Amino acid sequence: MSAGRFAPSPSGDLHLGNLRTAILAWLFARATDRAFLVRVEDLDRQRSRPEFERSQLEDLAAMGLTWDPPVVRQSERDDLYADALVRLAEAGLTFECFCTRREIAEAVRAPHVSPGAYPGTCRRLTEAERDARRADRAPAIRLRADAPTWTIHDVLEGEVRGDVDDLVLRRGDGAHAYNLAVVVDDGEQGVDQVVRGLDLIDAAPAQAYLAHALGLPEPVYAHVPLALNAEGRRLAKRDGAVTLRDLSPDVAWELIGASLGVDARSPEQLLARLDPAQIPGNPWIVTT
Ligand code: GLU
Repeated sequence: MSAGRFAPSPSGDLHLGNLRTAILAWLFARATDRAFLVRVEDLDRQRSRPEFERSQLEDLAAMGLTWDPPVVRQSERDDLYADALVRLAEAGLTFECFCTRREIAEAVRAPHVSPGAYPGTCRRLTEAERDARRADRAPAIRLRADAPTWTIHDVLEGEVRGDVDDLVLRRGDGAHAYNLAVVVDDGEQGVDQVVRGLDLIDAAPAQAYLAHALGLPEPVYAHVPLALNAEGRRLAKRDGAVTLRDLSPDVAWELIGASLGVDARSPEQLLARLDPAQIPGNPWIVTT
């Protein structure tokens, strides 16, 4: 199967920017004859709430979006993530990391380490050193990346090259990391087109590398412009009437259609009137 998807985190109501991204993900999928899936990204147990999952799905339906069942929840897919980790470990592509945040922060001040990257401290531990450290602390599992950078193809942004880094795949407390879950889910669900907000483009090269390391096809990407408030900051719920709690789906369609330069009141009308590759490249400044 060939599919696109929208993968919201159920940590709040969807605002106009999120709804626009969902509509564009649907548009890209349908314009290219793909299935369209919705995945609930609820790995962050502190912030995820079942009531937001419910209201998000209701809001997508209220905008007229349809998706191919089932809706999957990441919190129910730990076995898949654990299997993927075993495969990576067997291929020699993981290592245990005992570093605290503070140790990493101190090591990255060293001149030879690029900003934000893992300094490699635990890559080089001997078996005896690891045994000694396991007594103090449960390790995180990191990717032993063997490429410094990776290049993705983005339909809107072109070729994008970015750092891979030794990503955390599983935290010390046993929780699987977002980067692992997204890649495993996309691969397992047949998602070969990833449409999402431009804020996630920096994560894409490492995710594509991880897909490659797992023997999964690398998806085509389309990172869509973000919605900003009048001050030019990322739109948030506090920016006024920006969710379907305060706006009717009709008004939301009017605003989103106008932001895309077309008059559309439903997904089907949008599909008939807009080629997704032609969407405006500038951010959407929302003033309601
Ligand atoms: N769950 C992520 C978010 O809501 C999106 C992840 C993705 O689309 O890859 O920001």
